[in-house]
Amino acid sequence: MASKTIINRYKCKQVGGNVTVITYENTSIMFDYGYAFSSSKIGSVDYDFKRNHIDAVFFTHFHYDHVGRFHLIPKGIPMYMAPVTKRHIQYKNPDGAAKYDEFITTINQGDKIKIGDIEVIPFLSDHSALGSFMYVVKTPDMNIVHTGDFRLHGYMAKTLYKNLKHDILMACDGNVDTVITEGTRIIDYPHPDITTHGMQLKAEKIFKKNKFAFFYVTEIDPESISAFYNAAKKYGMNFFVDKKIFEPVSMYVPFGKEIDERYNYEDIICEDDIKLSEDVLRKGFVYLISINDNCLNEIYKFKKFKPVFIFSERQDYLIPFMGNYKSNIADFYNKAMKVCKKSYFMHTSGHASRKELRIMLKSLRPKKVVPIHTDYPLLVSLLSRPYLKK
Ligand SMILES: [Zn+2]
Ligand SMILES: [Zn+2]
Repeated sequence: MASKTIINRYKCKQVGGNVTVITYENTSIMFDYGYAFSSSKIGSVDYDFKRNHIDAVFFTHFHYDHVGRFHLIPKGIPMYMAPVTKRHIQYKNPDGAAKYDEFITTINQGDKIKIGDIEVIPFLSDHSALGSFMYVVKTPDMNIVHTGDFRLHGYMAKTLYKNLKHDILMACDGNVDTVITEGTRIIDYPHPDITTHGMQLKAEKIFKKNKFAFFYVTEIDPESISAFYNAAKKYGMNFFVDKKIFEPVSMYVPFGKEIDERYNYEDIICEDDIKLSEDVLRKGFVYLISINDNCLNEIYKFKKFKPVFIFSERQDYLIPFMGNYKSNIADFYNKAMKVCKKSYFMHTSGHASRKELRIMLKSLRPKKVVPIHTDYPLLVSLLSRPYLKK
């Protein structure tokens, strides 16, 4: 008999702005409602909530392309998200978050949320957003796993391995009918990934030899910040954070601590004018900067100490004519490099490599794969084929 469960995808043949709706008879639940990236030719979905009833919206994580448009969902529809995701939208969109506060329920790994005939269970995943979830969705005739964005090389890789090989499978009674999976990096050059732990070890080597380091990563990536913090603390260095980004950087700490002790970078110091004190000269520092003139002045101030610059974002931000080129960041970098002794590039991807997609599929052995979050859904289907359960 044909399944009564229906999976609809909206704007899913691209990376970002994807929306998935799972329906069983009269119950429909949505996953994510974010913006397409500015480079998108497909755009964001304007879901017709009036015509197509939605009973609840679940968010996989706090990235803009997944949660950014929560304030466009009609009021009254219950929303479910991790506590840190709620905190993040309160920071990014305080008015919107206040208006929707009464409709938001925070959920944790293993919770069983019943929406009509459908049961949803969140599991902690490994991604560049703290508190990312994979969801098990159980309808009366189907077990579905929605991967959200994921990877298997961050601090949370061990947790996700365990979840994929055991807890998620158990929640599906050993039988996964469909995996809705991301496929962001399906055509990436298959270079080996640097793990977050590997990045931490590399940073330790740098800090062992260099007492003064300026470093750049987006302020909404607490995992990369943790990696550099943990490395700095090994050598007793100060860890400064630019005043302009101190609020978002520090707001993740209480949530991170709950998830894994490696995210505990409590001992950070808000700074916008480093004094040449005895303490600073003795201990040295790692300074998480943001892109502004004051931070550039701070770098220039330390010229005679030959500081190093660590760039922990995609390297193509700095290369003109590349799709991801960001001229303000590239200008800053070029100016900083006039006084810095050396630069280091270290970036951990938030997404699964082809090898990691295969590991996920091998663990879950679904009957069917539904690709989302990829420019090449057909390639994701082809990659999946050998792992499908007959
Ligand atoms: Zn995404
Ligand atoms: Zn993401």
